[in-house]
Amino acid sequence: MIKQVPLLINGEFITSKSTQLIDVTNPATQEVIAQVPCATDEEITQAIEGAKQAFEIWKEKSVGDRARVMLAYQALLKTHQEEIATILSQESGKTFPDAMGDVWRGIEVVEHAANVASLTMGETLENVARKIDCYSFTQPLGVCVGVTPFNFPAMIPLWMFPIAIACGNAFILKPSEQNPMTPVRLAELFIEAGAPSGILQVLHGGKEVVQQLLVHPDTPAISFVGSVAVGEYIYRTGTDHMKRVQAFAGAKNHMVIMPDAAKKQVINNIAGASVGAAGQRCMAISVAVFVGDSKKWIPEIKEALAKVRPGAWDDAEAGYGPQINPAAKERVLGFIAEGKAAGANCILDGSDVQVPGLPHGNFVGPTMFTNVTTDMSIYKEEIFGPVLITLEVETLEQAIALINENPYGNGTSIFTASGAAARKYQHEIKVGIVGINVPVPVPLPMFSFTGWRKSFYGDQHAYGKQAFKFYTETKTVTARWFEDDIDTGVNTTIDMK
Ligand code: NAD
Repeated sequence: MIKQVPLLINGEFITSKSTQLIDVTNPATQEVIAQVPCATDEEITQAIEGAKQAFEIWKEKSVGDRARVMLAYQALLKTHQEEIATILSQESGKTFPDAMGDVWRGIEVVEHAANVASLTMGETLENVARKIDCYSFTQPLGVCVGVTPFNFPAMIPLWMFPIAIACGNAFILKPSEQNPMTPVRLAELFIEAGAPSGILQVLHGGKEVVQQLLVHPDTPAISFVGSVAVGEYIYRTGTDHMKRVQAFAGAKNHMVIMPDAAKKQVINNIAGASVGAAGQRCMAISVAVFVGDSKKWIPEIKEALAKVRPGAWDDAEAGYGPQINPAAKERVLGFIAEGKAAGANCILDGSDVQVPGLPHGNFVGPTMFTNVTTDMSIYKEEIFGPVLITLEVETLEQAIALINENPYGNGTSIFTASGAAARKYQHEIKVGIVGINVPVPVPLPMFSFTGWRKSFYGDQHAYGKQAFKFYTETKTVTARWFEDDIDTGVNTTIDMK
């Protein structure tokens, strides 16, 4: 019998009463490894009600008590990193080292969440008027919701619930239905670390479950990471219901290659950054912009890409795994066909790649296009596959103008030996995350993950530093004390002289 992934409601991992089940498959084989239920209306209500009750108790816990749960959780995650990465690889297809990285980036956020005391401290100012002081506190919001994508099933849930809960909130996680076993394992370890019953609830399902969480009057804050279309919908619907929403969405990340760049570094870095993780990273480099003479490196870059081989998660030689599902593979193949039909030159074509022993895997080989123009769909759309497209310009100014016209603004990088070019790029580029001689510049949690334009909807970024602001309200107190009152008080020991 196929295992059913449990829901986590009020501290218990339960089998859903739902009859609506979705298969969880190994994307390298199509083997069904589990089934995930779409939570029923009753289960959603139970989770919200239970989270509300847990919140009332948890918010009164000392900040030290909350931080200590995060410290215990961090230690447990480190002990179980390989085990979590194995589950993650099997249900997502990621190579084992890539899966270990996915878990590790999440562990770093939990470490950061343990700093909740210093990161949620308020401000004070004495004598804002005569004998009047002013100070502020941060307080939690209530039941926060997180909706996460398939491509980082450990890191992205861990961007959200540890920080929200460290701030004193309760949290309902709705992970991707495509790889729900990793988040469930994360939740088990969270409970083992001492998280109280009901403070984290895990509901599975698709858009119907999200919709209910999105419009419910008792869920004041929604964090979302996923595609642009869904991100826009979540942002519109959530804010329409007067909620605090942040939606991290899609990307089209450009790498600018200046002619003075360290050629070996460019070639070594671009292959991993573009086709690594099967191109299924929101920070993947999908467009290489060659400035001037750097275009003469294209043949060597093609060679470097051609050497990367997709394969199974436990194949130590594999550079990356399959696309998440057959539809995702078809979508990537569709873009490759469209690129060819539009007149781009497909100098490396991974459409027909075969992985020995895995004939049913959703594999796409490394693919590279030249002669691309900005009106082609392969340039305009997020492909989310192992496809690198290239553009050629004469100057850095042209490269900057091109990138600033692209609707996405998640990540970008420039490779150059010139400090002046790097400085100009970092200053003028309208993209939130910039790498200088670093191809995938994912910031650590002490910074924020700062996509711009169509890559992010909201005002504060629910990761890292600003996440503490997202998950709290600020209360400002203005206080006046009358010395006469103290003088007449019987129990006071304060010496006002
Ligand atoms: P997706 O938008 O299909 O799904 C994300 C989540 O939304 C899932 O939990 C899914 O169940 C839910 N969902 C799907 N359709 C919905 C609907 N109509 N209404 C409500 N909820 C819905 O995204 P995906 O395919 O899982 O992830 C890939 C996308 O995520 C890519 O576009 C990638 O760029 C983006 N992403 C962005 C970042 C970032 O930080 N900007 C990080 C990772 C991934």
